[in-house]
Order: sequence, then C-alpha cells, then structure tokens
Amino acid sequence: MATRTQVAVVGAGPIGLELASAFKLGGVKYLHFDAGQIGHTVSWMPRQMRFFSSPDRISICGVPLQTVEQEKASREEYLAYLRSIVEQFDLTVHTHEKIMSIQKSGSKFLLTSEKATGQHQYVADYVVLATGDLNRARELNLPGEDLPHVSHYFDEPHRYFRKRLLIVGGRNSAVEAAIRCQRAGADVAVSYRGDEFDTQSVKYWLAPEIEMLIKTERVTYYPLTIPTVITPQHVSLRQVQTGQCTQVPADFVLLLVGYEMDTTLMEQVGVALAGENQAPQLDLQTMQTNVPGFYVGGTAAAGTQIRFQLFIENCHPHVGKIFESITGRQCPFDATDKTHSGRYALPES
Ligand SMILES: Cc1cc2nc3c(=O)[nH]c(=O)nc-3n(C[C@H](O)[C@H](O)[C@H](O)COP(=O)(O)OP(=O)(O)OC[C@H]3O[C@@H](n4cnc5c(N)ncnc54)[C@H](O)[C@@H]3O)c2cc1C
Repeated sequence: MATRTQVAVVGAGPIGLELASAFKLGGVKYLHFDAGQIGHTVSWMPRQMRFFSSPDRISICGVPLQTVEQEKASREEYLAYLRSIVEQFDLTVHTHEKIMSIQKSGSKFLLTSEKATGQHQYVADYVVLATGDLNRARELNLPGEDLPHVSHYFDEPHRYFRKRLLIVGGRNSAVEAAIRCQRAGADVAVSYRGDEFDTQSVKYWLAPEIEMLIKTERVTYYPLTIPTVITPQHVSLRQVQTGQCTQVPADFVLLLVGYEMDTTLMEQVGVALAGENQAPQLDLQTMQTNVPGFYVGGTAAAGTQIRFQLFIENCHPHVGKIFESITGRQCPFDATDKTHSGRYALPES
C-alpha cells in the first residue's frame, strides 16, 4: 500500500537538505529521498577539492560553516557539515532509495521508488525535485570510451603516479586534475577543443599555474583537438582546423567534459522543458512548474548548464519561495540570495 505524505522532496544535496530542514522546522509532513547517500553529488567530487565559494555562501539553514584553516571548504569538510545538518535538525532521509517514476493522479502524485528491499509507492500532495543538474557524465560516444583505463570522474591523483595520463577538457575540472596529477608525479597531457582554457570557469588561482606548467613543458598541451578513438595504448586526437591526427600514448584517460541533467521525472509528469539546457519552465516567484503542485529547486532549476548560472550559492532563495508557496507561511530561517544582497553584494573574485 502507498504511504501518504503532504510533500515529497526528491534529492538530498545541499538544497534538498535546506528544504527538508525548513519543512521539519515548519511542522510540514514530508518525506525525503535520495538515490545515494546525502550530498551524493559532492561525494563524487575529487578528494580534498576546495569549493570556489566562501564557506558562508554555501552554508545552509542559517548554520555557520567553519573550516579548519579558515580556507574555502574542502569536499570532506562540506560532507561533514551536511552530515551535521542532518543530525542537528534530526532529518529523516530515505537514502539509497531512488525515485524511479512520478505519475500525476488527480490532484496528487504517485511516486515509485526502488531500494535494496524492492519497490515502494508513495502518494504526495506536492513534489519538490532538488535532484541537481549533474546526474550523469556527458559521453563523447567514442570507440574505447568504456575501456577500464578511461573514466569521466577524477577521484584522486595517486593512481596516476609515474603514469601517462591524458585529460580531455578545458574547464575547471580538467585544469584542476591536470595540476594536481602533475604535482603528484604523473606525466600529464591535456587535449582541449578550444585554443585557450575557459578562463570564465577556471578558478582564478589555477589559471596562472596551468599556463606556467604548459609554458615550461611540464604539461603537454594539445589545443584545438578532439579525441576520436581510444585504445588500451593510445588516444587519437584530431586537430579541428587541419583534420590532422596525432596518436598520444596514454596509460589512463580522464574525459572531464561535463555532466548532464536527467529530465526523466520531469518529463513523466509533463513539466515543460525549454532551450538548449532543457530547463524546466518555472514561475520564478514560487519555483512551481507548469504542473500544479510540482516544484523544482536547486541547480535542477537550470537544466543541463552549458554556462554555469546556478550554484549552491544562489539557490538558497528557492527554499524560501517553495516553502512559502506550499505552506503560505514564511520560511523558518533566512533563505536569501547570499550572492546578491546585503553584505554579499560585492563579488569575491
Ligand atoms: C567540482 C565541482 C565544484 C563545485 N564548486 C561549487 C562552489 O564552489 N560553489 C557552489 O555554489 N557550487 C559549486 N558546485 C556546484 C554544486 O556543488 C552542485 O551543483 C550542488 O551539489 C548542487 O546542489 P543541489 O542540492 O541543487 O543538487 P545536488 O547536490 O546535485 O543533489 C541532488 C541529489 O539528488 C539525488 N537524486 C538525483 N536523482 C534522484 C532520484 N531519481 N531519486 C532520488 N534522488 C535523486 C542525487 O543523488 C543527489 O544527491 C561545484 C560542482 C562541482 C562538480
């Protein structure tokens, strides 16, 4: 038999947890699900990675985020912080329970989940998707992309010590991986389809370092190239202007070319998606979609971000808007735009 609830929150990343805290403090009957552990997206980021945002910009529910050395928070510090939020507010999250489908049934929603014990059903008056925009790695559909030495995720540099590593990509993830792996003793080469790295997306403290590593030939750079074939021994790179092919020997390949949003649940209930990003169409005052009772918050509101516009930093107001629209009351804590109001008006970098 289906379990009934007023609100179903799908996704327990920072914004899903901030929403759940608001519902808990506001006495709203809700159920909360995540396909993985809480903070799943942050958990697959590289070990010891530091956020570009200052801690106060990614703190949630009005709870300060302190870091050990007053630096920007690392992945590990932020995951510990998210766990402490769950404990502090005593949030119940159905982790490792994926919502597989959502159907509209009259004025209600029928959600079907899957977890280790099988399928479960829930009926909710309202659904809030906070499922993020980084649900799967973008694939290049290359021969050899699924070989065991090829990955779309950079975990940590030790694996590549004294190995030939080819990194494909030119945005922050690729640049950060190249610098860390070179420092850790890997023989690093980078292939990018552009001429110069995307300085808009690369953390400002990394840009001069990668330039210096390339200039001093400690990282080999293949600008204006795209990979065409990966074999266990090498990667074929095609020069985009001349069409000329070069074979680059590689023991490991990291394809750090971005991530995509999974729109399945939105499509199932009939949410209108638009533009290159396939972003859900929302009333920006409430974050409600064209389907009454169905809301989207967090970075999922932006769709697959070609140019990043929504981060944790500027998604906090979604929490207040959704809470207010569903309950008709004010959010129990201050969920304001930390980047564009008051003391956050000045940009950091
Ligand atoms: C390397 C890197 C560095 C970043 N640095 C910053 C930064 O400095 N500042 C900043 O503001 N942002 C930063 N971001 C962006 C930001 O961290 C993420 O986009 C952020 O996690 C978004 O929060 P969210 O709560 O909207 O979604 P997410 O954190 O992505 O959470 C979505 C959750 O939904 C769950 N989920 C998805 N589908 C289902 C389903 N069907 N059923 C159940 N659960 C589901 C997922 O498991 C996940 O836990 C960075 C991102 C990356 C990759």
